[in-house]
This record gives sequence, C-alpha cells and structure tokens, in this order.
Amino acid sequence: MTVINKNLAVLKNFINGEWVDAISSETLDVPNPATGEILVKVPISSKKDVDLAVHAAHEAFQTWKNTPVPKRARILYKYHYLLTENHEELARLVVEENGKAYKEAYGEVQRGIECVEFAAGAPTLMMGETLSNIAEDIDSEMFRYPLGVVGGITPFNFPMMVPTWMFPLAIACGNTFVLKPSERTPILANKLVELFAEAGAPKGVLNIVHGAHDVVNGLLDHEDVKAISFVGSQPVAKYVYERAAAQGKRVQALSGAKNHHIVMPDADMNKAVANVISSAYGSAGQRCMACSAVVIVGDGDEFVTALKQKADDLIIGNGIDDEVLLTPVIRDSHRMKVLDYIKKGLEEGASLIRDGRKEMDEMQDGTFFGATIFDYVTPEMTIAKEEIFAPVLSLLRAKDLDDGLEFIRKSRFGNGATIYTKDAKAVRQFREEADAGMLGINVGVPATMAFFPFSGWKDSFYGDLHVNGKDGVNFFTRKKMITSRFDY
Ligand code: NAD
Repeated sequence: MTVINKNLAVLKNFINGEWVDAISSETLDVPNPATGEILVKVPISSKKDVDLAVHAAHEAFQTWKNTPVPKRARILYKYHYLLTENHEELARLVVEENGKAYKEAYGEVQRGIECVEFAAGAPTLMMGETLSNIAEDIDSEMFRYPLGVVGGITPFNFPMMVPTWMFPLAIACGNTFVLKPSERTPILANKLVELFAEAGAPKGVLNIVHGAHDVVNGLLDHEDVKAISFVGSQPVAKYVYERAAAQGKRVQALSGAKNHHIVMPDADMNKAVANVISSAYGSAGQRCMACSAVVIVGDGDEFVTALKQKADDLIIGNGIDDEVLLTPVIRDSHRMKVLDYIKKGLEEGASLIRDGRKEMDEMQDGTFFGATIFDYVTPEMTIAKEEIFAPVLSLLRAKDLDDGLEFIRKSRFGNGATIYTKDAKAVRQFREEADAGMLGINVGVPATMAFFPFSGWKDSFYGDLHVNGKDGVNFFTRKKMITSRFDY
C-alpha cells in the first residue's frame, strides 16, 4: 500500500552552483519500489529551467575550458575521495530509489567511482599527437579541445553508474555539463552533484535539471548544447539521436538490449546455471546487460531442471535485506507491460515453466514480479524479439553452435552475448561470429569497466563513439591540427 506524506520535499535543481526550485510547479512522486513509501517529489521542469542551466554552463565554460588540465583533474581526485567516503550511503540511496539489492548497489557505486578514476587521468588522456618532418621541413601537431556545454540524459536502472559514465570525463576534458537524471530515480543525482561541488567544482560546471521529455527536448534543441550523451530505451534513444544529430550535435545514444547466453553441452552446468540466474534475475532483470534469452545447445534437460529449481529457491524481497536476490521492478505500470508479454508468450505458443505472476499476487506492498521462465521460445516470438526488462527469461533450443549464433544474428539488438563452454574452438567461433559488442566467455554480465568502451552494436547503440575509455575522450573533445613549415 502506498504511504503518502503530504509534507514531502520537492527535489531542487542545481543551477550555477545554487539549489533552486524549478519554475514549473508540476511534480511526480518517487516511491521506494520495495515498500511503496513515497520518498520525495521530483519537479517536472520546463524548457525555461533548461535555458537557465545551459546559460550557466555556457558562462562557466569560458573559464573552465582554460583551466589547466591537471587542475581540473585534481577536482576529480578529491571527488574520488568523497565518493569513496560516502560509498555506503550512496549504495543505500540506490537501493531506496531503484529497489535493487544492496550488494548490487554497492557494486554499482564502485563502477561509478572507477569512472572518476579514469577521468582523473585527463592530463594523459587529453594529450595530442605530433610528427616532425611529415614532409620536408613540415611538422604536424594535433591538440584536443573541449566542445562546450554537454547534455546528459540518464535511465532509472543505474542512477550512479550511468551519470558517472558521462559528467566526470566530459568535465575533466574541459566541457561543462547539464544532467537530466531519470525522473524515476532522481535522488542520488543530487548527492552526486553536492559532492562534486564539495570537491571544488566551480559554479556552473555541473548543473542538474530534473524532469521528463520537456527537459530532454530543451537540451536537444538548445543551440549552446554541443553534444548529447543519452542512455535509455530503444525508441527514445533513436528519437534523441535523430533529433539532436539533425541539429548538428554530436550524439551517443545507448539503447535497449536482448542478451543471449549460449549454453554448450560441455559447459559446467552448475556454474552456467548460477551465472544465468544472477544475470537474469539480479536487479529484477532491469540491466541492459541482463541475460534475457538462453540458447541451449543439445539436450538441455539437466540445465533446465537445475535452472527452474534455483529460480524456485530465489529469495524475493526488499533489496536492503542481505539474503534477497530478486527485488521489485521499478513501477506498477512496468508490471502491467510485463503481464502483456506473458500473455503474448502464451498466445504465441511458448511453454511457461515458471510463472512469476504468483509472487506478484502474493506480495502486495512493493512492485514485485516473480522469476519467470518460458521454454521452447523461437526467435520469431515477440518475447524473443523485444526487450521485456524484467525477471522474465526465454529458453531457446538450438541444434548446434551455428544455429545459436544465428539466433543472435537475427536479433535487432547487439549489446551483449555470453557462451558457457570449455571448448576453445567454440570460444573462438563465438568471439569471431557473435553479432554483439560485448561478449562474455563463461561470464554472466560481461559489462565493460570505465577504461574500455561500453560497446553495444545494432539497435543497442546509435552514434559512433561509445561511452568510456578512449572513445569517451574522443567523444568529449575535438581535435585541431597544426601544420607548420620552418623554412622561412
Ligand atoms: P527511458 O527511455 O524510459 O528513459 C531514459 C531517459 O529518457 C529518462 O531520463 C527519461 O526521462 C527520458 N525519456 C523517456 N521518454 C522520453 C520521451 N518520450 N522523450 C524524451 N525523453 C524521454 O529508459 P528507462 O526505462 O529509464 O531505462 C531502461 C532502458 O535503458 C532499457 O531499455 C535499458 O536497456 C536501457 N539501458 C541501456 C544501457 C546501455 O548501456 N545500452 C544502459 C542502461 C539502460
């Protein structure tokens, strides 16, 4: 049951170093998905709020771009220290607003801290390149410069990791930033900004405008916003990419997923089952790298029996309790979409061998959905093609590895894929032929860390340069070439 506290605070925006009320008075409740308790209200800001933030960021850019790179990096070092000091509190905030298990939230905060570690290397990362004597008496030099104001738009499922994919590196490279966090998980974002200011970031360098599509459109259309970094669902990613790119902005838009795990007959079945369970049901399946389809090669009886048993044994509940693995989905409206997918799966002939609607009915307080497994799913079925983003797993049967790889090729998404095997030949074939950007070899969640690009393919990504790693540095900088002749 939802507990409504009429005196709840409305989150503030952070513009030009000040916490300010949004101009618009529209708000949305932010409940704890495990309890229904309303934690806070988030303002649904308007384009006018965006204009104020972009103006502040644009002004700050004039000084920040000329601040020596090591001086910028020192703020990141201090920030790293503050995030580490606050690691547990940040993880608790993630659990409260997103619902995921504390251990996962703690890990997410760690991933975010690593992004700051990477960004603190800006003096090295921003180095250019030179070549003397590229022609007779002629030298070539390349320098890197920031772009200006960057807009960041983030999803609900990683309130810490995804914003830290963006603003630490963008700012270390000399840009200024306007962040629009998910309106469903906006609380941690304010803590991130508060600590960044405490680390010594000058006013206007990092701003937050809370809200929904008006804020997004305000950023996409503003002429002083030079680049957009987006992470979210596929239709919105495509929309953001097209609208921003049409206005000449640099865009990276990370999108939805359908990640296949191939279980070969020689795999260690216990380990494969444990990996699939944690990948498919951790964070209630709400990870862009979650396993949502298992391709079983050969006779899968042993695997399916063990998988179902483990799914039956999963402890479901509030993520703040240590033993819980299966936590709630983000909202009831999301559960309604999941129910439609269950109906569709049944209508299209898949075999429902574990039905999570049971736990949904039993657990009234939060937005829980039990572990669900469909067997004998084919690539043509809706549940195999679309991202469900919930604890719903599809099992597909393949006669051999070629067949399994074909299923991956047929998917419109290409974020991640995994193989479970001890066979080196199968590993190599999988590495060469799997049509996805992030592969796991006996790894359940092959998400890359801050030092490498997060590298989705096909409809899982729109743009060219991915987030993180050297791609991230290239995305947040533009290059200037100098050609010099010295024979005068
Ligand atoms: P979402 O697309 O609903 O929202 C993402 C952001 O876009 C939010 O800030 C939201 O306010 C904004 N938005 C939503 N609808 C909009 C519209 N019509 N116009 C303009 N802006 C709009 O995504 P979500 O549900 O918050 O996040 C889950 C999705 O994100 C999943 O599809 C998941 O796969 C994806 N995701 C992808 C990655 C990746 O690396 N590829 C990482 C995390 C999440």
